[in-house]
Amino acid sequence: MATCSDIPNNSLPRPAILRVLDFESALGEVLHHAAGLRASSADTIEEVPLLESAGRVLARAIAADRDHPPFDRSTRDGYAVRGMAFSAGGWLRIAGQVRAGDVWSGPPLSNDGAIEIMTGAPLPAGADAVAMVEHIELDGGNVRAQQGRHLMSGENVVAQGSEARAGEIVVAAGSAIGAAEIALAATAGQAMLKVVTRPTVAIVATGDELVELHEIPDPRQIRNSNGYALATLVKLAGALPHRLAIARDVREELLQRIAEARQHDLILFSGGVSMGKYDLVEEVLAELGAEFFFTGVKMQPGKPVVFGRLPERRKNGLIFPARYFFGLPGNPVSTQVTFHCFVEPFVRTLLGEDASGPRFAQATLAHDVDGKLGLTRMLPARLDSDVRHASVKLVGWQGSGDLAANARANCYAVLPPDRTDFREGDVISVLLR
Ligand code: AMP
Ligand code: MG
Repeated sequence: MATCSDIPNNSLPRPAILRVLDFESALGEVLHHAAGLRASSADTIEEVPLLESAGRVLARAIAADRDHPPFDRSTRDGYAVRGMAFSAGGWLRIAGQVRAGDVWSGPPLSNDGAIEIMTGAPLPAGADAVAMVEHIELDGGNVRAQQGRHLMSGENVVAQGSEARAGEIVVAAGSAIGAAEIALAATAGQAMLKVVTRPTVAIVATGDELVELHEIPDPRQIRNSNGYALATLVKLAGALPHRLAIARDVREELLQRIAEARQHDLILFSGGVSMGKYDLVEEVLAELGAEFFFTGVKMQPGKPVVFGRLPERRKNGLIFPARYFFGLPGNPVSTQVTFHCFVEPFVRTLLGEDASGPRFAQATLAHDVDGKLGLTRMLPARLDSDVRHASVKLVGWQGSGDLAANARANCYAVLPPDRTDFREGDVISVLLR
């Protein structure tokens, strides 16, 4: 492990080049580097019980172990018939019944016959369609079409193997695992799934004013809530968080914490990246030879966000691999917004998930609001939706430190940088969380 004494003492003022990007370019940088890192690092894979796989990323595709459906399956309660014969309108003799879980063992159906059938039952030999129980008339042991009802061959039947053939891949590697994927694994009889091992993410909260939860803050101190918010977000993104001890705004302490953090796959800093005199994170990273892909983004909140990479380091025969890092602004809403915008896509790409960008949706603005030219604004908001329509309303807030307002919100309303006047009824994007 690197120690403070390994580090040259000639402290540089800041990253030599300031790179403040617009939102889309910044996101592009993040996704580009994440994809490169993913390509260069082989997945490590672990096997987990099916029910523990939710939220993970599938490492090995799931194949159907037999045809889906495994037989020609009725999708209705009704009568298995020949479509042509049923459509002709004459009485058909009911030869018996087949329920879900049964199989018809009588002789194949003929033109003048029908077999009562339940949803999910296999179609009897000789039949080619199912007449819905709502569309028939009964008379003793006979059934016929209601006036004007016709039935095509194949109607109300899903043919064997039409959803998937035995051996066909039904869930691709790289899929995020949720109920839909778990249902398919269960259908294929897989009690265990191979998933991508979670990357570990170091979380370094920086700030002289911070105390941990077991400490009593005095009036000038605040509790380290970002450490917990970030650990939660990292977990939800599918990675393993490691909260390190708080780093004071002191060079030596930051160097020590970075040395510990380098053992993890990704490093997150909270705080210390603004323009203040004691915002030393970038300075210390620059001193360690870090590259900076951006040192700010034209967004609000979250403008000071930093993304870069510490170079590989060799010392005493040991190799410390290159490590990507994000410096997230300390104001708690900024921390969370920039996580959703940049860190979450980075982690999901690293895990090999296909759809890994931030999740946006569209909604109608419920009231007028002002944007700021040149800044992509992402403001805490409430998304309310019904079956036809989604509308979004900003929550009142005191700025990017307002955690209570952030908790009243369920998304962030996105105001793009090229307009200032957003009007009630305008359709805008929202960042989902
Ligand atoms: P900074 O980005 O370091 O200038 O921090 C800006 C503000 O964010 C600080 O004044 C604190 O009020 C707040 N803050 C910084 N770090 C944390 C943290 N770990 N938890 C909660 N609030 C924080
Ligand atoms: Mg600070």
